[in-house]
Amino acid sequence: MQQLTLSARQRRALATICDTLCPAGDGLPSATELGVPEAVVALVARDPRPAARRELKQLLSAWDSAPLTYAIGHGWNRFSALPQERREQALLSWCDSRIPQRRAAFQALRKGALLMYWALPARDGTANPAWATLGLPAPPGPPADAPPKALRPLAEPAAGTTLQCDVAIVGSGAGGGVAAAVLSAAGLDVIVIEAGGYWDDEDFDGGELRALTQFYAGSPTATHDQGVALIAGACLGGGTVVNYSTSFRTPDDVRAEWAAHGVPAFTSDDYGASLDAVVARLGVNQEHNEPSSRDRKLRAGALALGWHVDAMPRNVDGRCDMGEQCGRCGLGCRLGAKQSVVKTWLRDAADSGARLLVGTKVERVVIEQGSARGVRARTAGGGELTVRARAVVAACGALHTPALLMRSGLQNQHLGKHLKLHPATAVWGVYDEELRPWEGTMQALYSDQHRDLDGDGYGVKYETAAALPHLAVPFFPWRSRRQHHELMEALSSSVAFGVLLRDRDGGEVRVGRDGEPLVRYALSRRDLAHMRTGVEGAARMHEAAGARRIFSSQSRLVAYEPGTNGGAEAARAEFLRAVDACGWGAGRTQYASFHIMGSARMGGAAATSAVAPNGETWDVRDLWVLDGSAFPSAPGVNPQVSIQAVAHMGARALAARLA
Ligand SMILES: Cc1cc2nc3c(=O)[nH]c(=O)nc-3n(C[C@H](O)[C@H](O)[C@H](O)COP(=O)(O)OP(=O)(O)OC[C@H]3O[C@@H](n4cnc5c(N)ncnc54)[C@H](O)[C@@H]3O)c2cc1C
Repeated sequence: MQQLTLSARQRRALATICDTLCPAGDGLPSATELGVPEAVVALVARDPRPAARRELKQLLSAWDSAPLTYAIGHGWNRFSALPQERREQALLSWCDSRIPQRRAAFQALRKGALLMYWALPARDGTANPAWATLGLPAPPGPPADAPPKALRPLAEPAAGTTLQCDVAIVGSGAGGGVAAAVLSAAGLDVIVIEAGGYWDDEDFDGGELRALTQFYAGSPTATHDQGVALIAGACLGGGTVVNYSTSFRTPDDVRAEWAAHGVPAFTSDDYGASLDAVVARLGVNQEHNEPSSRDRKLRAGALALGWHVDAMPRNVDGRCDMGEQCGRCGLGCRLGAKQSVVKTWLRDAADSGARLLVGTKVERVVIEQGSARGVRARTAGGGELTVRARAVVAACGALHTPALLMRSGLQNQHLGKHLKLHPATAVWGVYDEELRPWEGTMQALYSDQHRDLDGDGYGVKYETAAALPHLAVPFFPWRSRRQHHELMEALSSSVAFGVLLRDRDGGEVRVGRDGEPLVRYALSRRDLAHMRTGVEGAARMHEAAGARRIFSSQSRLVAYEPGTNGGAEAARAEFLRAVDACGWGAGRTQYASFHIMGSARMGGAAATSAVAPNGETWDVRDLWVLDGSAFPSAPGVNPQVSIQAVAHMGARALAARLA
């Protein structure tokens, strides 16, 4: 990680912004007292893009100047000289600005500062006093009885080393982990190269700080305009280490759609066999599904309306407590219950002799006479490493796989296109009783009531997730210190119904001059109409479940109380009008993507896709894409099982080729 050094002026500006968002009060420390500005700098330093650092520095250099404050309508004053209330108004003028770049800057600062405010412990290492105002317990710390780590990654090779193997696999997540197991079981010599570190039970302290800064990807964390937060794992096992263990098979109508895209195998027994193998290896079951308070509200609302609700299939075993620990599932499972690829496929791969390299970032694929012959990588210590191979599997996730292939010179017109994000927003219900939404089975129930809104399989899925601050803060509006703390203090009685959109019209991954991915994405008119139906549907479920107050994830606080204003129908109609007035675009509605897919899609011809039906790129022989990038379209269900099945089927084809 490179250092990010701010000048004294820039540091002062950042501290004033953080302290405006989170000043001291009511016995709670200010952002600077907690060390938030330093933590924000450390977050930005994880981003390898020079532009990200430059933009932050430029903004902070200009921030505390009278001309800038004047330009946003707050008189000829320096920001730091304004009283708190006027500084809040100045920040809100960025939040509500008609200029997208200003909204993006506000959202980036808001999320960075608030995430760290709620994630950091006190400076002396004791519990952050703000947690007590929520009733939120301090993180439990690493488990005392964690088993020793089962995998033995290679020691960092000396600079200039060249390793030889049959297949070099780049990335060790859902796709790469499965490919490693299948290929090494076929007797091939496999090296898995993973940019992140190896973390397992003994490292999972249940704290948001460690997870956010070590297990999750540091870049890109949002689309170019901050419109959609991009959330991905970046460690051995990739997203499967931090994901929520929901394990749906690919729905039949999605398989048919994918087959119609020129990949008939998706409706064949071949793909069916891969799905079966994945579900069996992950131990997917519906036996560990005790509904949390959140899911009980979802069920109550859905049943009262006569809507669909069902149990999630999950890849956990009997160690899952479905209680306090399970709510921290996204920070790494402290109980060893989640069957990530670290616990399953990568173990199988290592048992069959696969070698694992961690902390090693692949920079490009070595292409000789039109065929992939290995990769060039950089180790954690900065040394160059070459891995020579008969074939290369790109499995870096749907942002980094297209970036790697573009860096390596591939020019297929579909590479980077058709990016799907399953954008998700949250509709919050505040109830009269304490619900402690950060506890209980991470995801136990879902509703498919609106999965098919136009008869072609596209719509939304309703799910809940445990709401620790890092999952609440990004969706909450911030209008003032007082309003923020009111929402946070009500968190223990609040529940979010997630609206997860099956997006038909996607975005794009490009590669910057620095070689890093840049993401452009905007919801199309049709996708937005589905999202709006979903927001209304989630609000209706909250009403039916008895919520006292309901609010959306807009940049303004848009809320209603179903029991007032002429009844729930009228109040909801007014609520939706207010949501429309606030807007659905970037910086107006908060969206996050946990499912990043489709940016090197598979299809029947090079004219319509980046990857052939077997997973090999059309452009370069022996270069395969076996991760979420290869999806022909969004599956509309949480994707890990489908990604693993795509990798399983593709890796079998690759093994047959190399045999
Ligand atoms: C918080 C969260 C919750 C989720 N919950 C669920 C769920 O409940 N159910 C579900 O089905 N799905 C869930 N998902 C989604 C699912 O985990 C992902 O879709 C899946 O892991 C993606 O698989 P992948 O192989 O495409 O990429 P990833 O699993 O993201 O793996 C890619 C790996 O490549 C590495 N990498 C990137 N670039 C390089 C490089 N240049 N060199 C070397 N290594 C590189 C990365 O560090 C990463 O480890 C969740 C995701 C998140 C983040």
